[in-house]
Amino acid sequence: MINTSKYSIGLGRDIHALVPGRRFMLGGVQLEADFGEDGHSDGDVLCHAVLDAVMGAVGIGDIGELFPPDDPSSKDESSLEMLKLCVYTTLKLSPWRIANIDSVVSCAAPSILPYRKAIQKSLAEALGIQETKIFVKGKSGNGIGDVGQGKAVEAIAVCLMERGGSW
Ligand SMILES: [Zn+2]
Repeated sequence: MINTSKYSIGLGRDIHALVPGRRFMLGGVQLEADFGEDGHSDGDVLCHAVLDAVMGAVGIGDIGELFPPDDPSSKDESSLEMLKLCVYTTLKLSPWRIANIDSVVSCAAPSILPYRKAIQKSLAEALGIQETKIFVKGKSGNGIGDVGQGKAVEAIAVCLMERGGSW
């Protein structure tokens, strides 16, 4: 079945453990912290959630299918590069264009707010869209669970696509 709607929405969600000795990457921007995401790639939780949201809206698979975790070539790979690859190899050939993306990153520390503009700019450049089409919000997790206690970082993203138009 083909989606013939004018709009299509996608949702992405990811969580990574935070461990010492790793870089803390969000949307391709490195945060100042002495810990970061554990993972096969660079672990950029926001890039992974955005990628899954975009892929879900287009309906062409998910991050695990495109970049299998057992593939040695994606070891420590930049997730922002994975996002760019996805856009230039699949999205540009599809009838869908990104209307907007909204996202929430939850981690106990550091605060996302000082990095928001840089993260939005980085993701917009990778996706080839205007900065006004992507928004990033930070939440602390309120001390609850692994996220609130600083053991993990979680990201959720939604992507609205519209048919036609230009990038
Ligand atoms: Zn991930």
